Amino acid sequence: MEEQALKIKICEMNPHIVCSLCAGYFIDATTVTECLHTFCKSCIVKHLQSSHSCPQCGLKIHETQPIFHLRPDRTMQDIVFKLVPGLFEGEEKRKEEFHRSRGLIVLPKEGDGKIWPKVSCMLNNPKAYQYKYDEQICLCLDRYSPQKVDLHGGHYDLPILERKFIRCSIRVLVCHLKTMLNKKLTVPAGLKLEIVCEEEDLADEMSLKQIFLVCWDNRPTPMMMFYRLKSPD
Ligand SMILES: [Zn+2]
Ligand SMILES: [Zn+2]
Repeated sequence: MEEQALKIKICEMNPHIVCSLCAGYFIDATTVTECLHTFCKSCIVKHLQSSHSCPQCGLKIHETQPIFHLRPDRTMQDIVFKLVPGLFEGEEKRKEEFHRSRGLIVLPKEGDGKIWPKVSCMLNNPKAYQYKYDEQICLCLDRYSPQKVDLHGGHYDLPILERKFIRCSIRVLVCHLKTMLNKKLTVPAGLKLEIVCEEEDLADEMSLKQIFLVCWDNRPTPMMMFYRLKSPD
């Protein structure tokens, strides 16, 4: 039911978030300041090489320098990424493949943490170099509340993270943060963590970008996130 409601909404939104030049969702949304029509950046730049008019309304943008009347529209782009699941991740992947095809990504040598030390250390992820060109986000990862669990022959106190403030790629997923927490907080096997933002329990496959847009609602960073032990089902 909920899913159906969402589908209808995206359909209704399509005329506002689809580029009339390529018929795809806006990528690098760019608005013509003279008439406020929006296109993908690459689409409108290409169009203006052969015409100086807005492709949507025909308004002459500028006699000689129409490019000066283009502005990146970050709010629109964020709305599109928020509405269309997977678009942001797909676009990041495409950019990464582009960089790779041009030889712009230097593969790190085995055990070389220099390229992106923060992420590679934090996530201990051999593919961390892939995050090198990403937008970064600052977050504060704090303990939700003190928790003590009785275990066989002892107990476990959920510790506070030594370094709460983290700066990392917006493509990092909740499951990555959990892996890092499990390691840093030496969470005993059998206990599971959950991460919340604005009282919402976050799914493993959510990216920081999605959380920033959906839960944090674009507010200034650091984005506050909390971890706690999941109560046994
Ligand atoms: Zn386009
Ligand atoms: Zn126009």
